Amino acid sequence: MKQKRSICLSLNQIKMKNCPYCGNNGKFYLKVYSRIYHRCSKCDLIYKDFQESYDKSVAVYRDKYFSKYSSEQLRGNRNKLFESILNRIERKRQVGRLLDVGTGCGFFLVAAQKRGWKPAGIEPSMQSVEFGRKKSRLDIFHGTLMEYAGDAKLDAITFINVLEHSVEPWQEIERAGKFLKPGGLIYIRFPNGLVHGKIQLLASRIGLSNRVGRFLVFHKYSFTPGYIRRLLSDSGFSEITFQNSQLSEGDPGGLFSNVFVTRAAKRSFYLVAKAIEIITHKQLLLGPSLEVTATKRYAG
Ligand SMILES: [Zn+2]
Repeated sequence: MKQKRSICLSLNQIKMKNCPYCGNNGKFYLKVYSRIYHRCSKCDLIYKDFQESYDKSVAVYRDKYFSKYSSEQLRGNRNKLFESILNRIERKRQVGRLLDVGTGCGFFLVAAQKRGWKPAGIEPSMQSVEFGRKKSRLDIFHGTLMEYAGDAKLDAITFINVLEHSVEPWQEIERAGKFLKPGGLIYIRFPNGLVHGKIQLLASRIGLSNRVGRFLVFHKYSFTPGYIRRLLSDSGFSEITFQNSQLSEGDPGGLFSNVFVTRAAKRSFYLVAKAIEIITHKQLLLGPSLEVTATKRYAG
C-alpha cells in the first residue's frame, strides 16, 4: 500500500530525502543545472530534493502562468496535439462530459466542444480563465482540482502536461477518481522521465550536462511509466495503457533555427519512436512525451 506523506504547506521549500510517495529511502539520481533529483527504487518516482510548498506553487501558476506560459497555446502550437488526444480518448469512450485539469486558456475545451463533448476546465490563472470565458464562453472553474466541487458523473478527465507540476500528484489522481463515473477514463500526458533522465545521465558522463539540459524537461517530478502505472493502480484505475504522444508544434525553448526545422525535427523524433513502439509491441517507448489512459474501476 502506498504511504501518503503530506508535504508541509507553510514553508516555501521542503527538503525531501525520502520518496514523498511511498516513504522509501531515495537515492541520488541526477543533477540538472543546480537541481538535484532522487529516484525511488521501490515505486520508481523521480523527485526533486527540494520542493516548493503547495501555496507557493499554486501562486506561481495563478500569478505568472498567462504572461510566461500561454504563448504556445495562443499561437495554436498545440491544436494538432489536442486533436490527437481527442482521437485517442474517442477510440475508448463515446463523447460525454469531460473535465480538463489545468486547462490554460481553454483551447482543448474548444476542440472537445466542436466534437460534441460537454467540456469543463479547471485553471488557477484568472487571466487564462477570463480569456477562455470571454473568447469562447467556456465553463472554466477558477482554482485547483483540490478546490473544485463537482459530482461523480464525468466520462473523462484529462491532465495534459499538468501532473508533473503538481506538489502532490497522487492527491490529484485520487481526487480525479472521485469525479469520474465508474468505468470513466483518465488521460495523462507527461514528459518521458526515462528518456530525459537517460540522456541527462549520458551527457553528464561526457561533460555536456549543462549544454544538454535545455533540451530536456524536468519539473517538480519526472515520471516513468513504472511510477505512473503504480500510482494509477493504487488510486483505483485499471486497463492502464501507455504510448508515445504526438508532439506539439512549438519551440518554447528556442532550440531550433526556424519553425520548419522545428516541425521536421519533432516529426522525425515522433515517427522513429512510434516505429519502435509498434515493433516492440509498446514495450519500448522512446518518445520525449508519453500518454496514458486508464479506467476507473467499478466498486467491488
Ligand atoms: Zn517511492
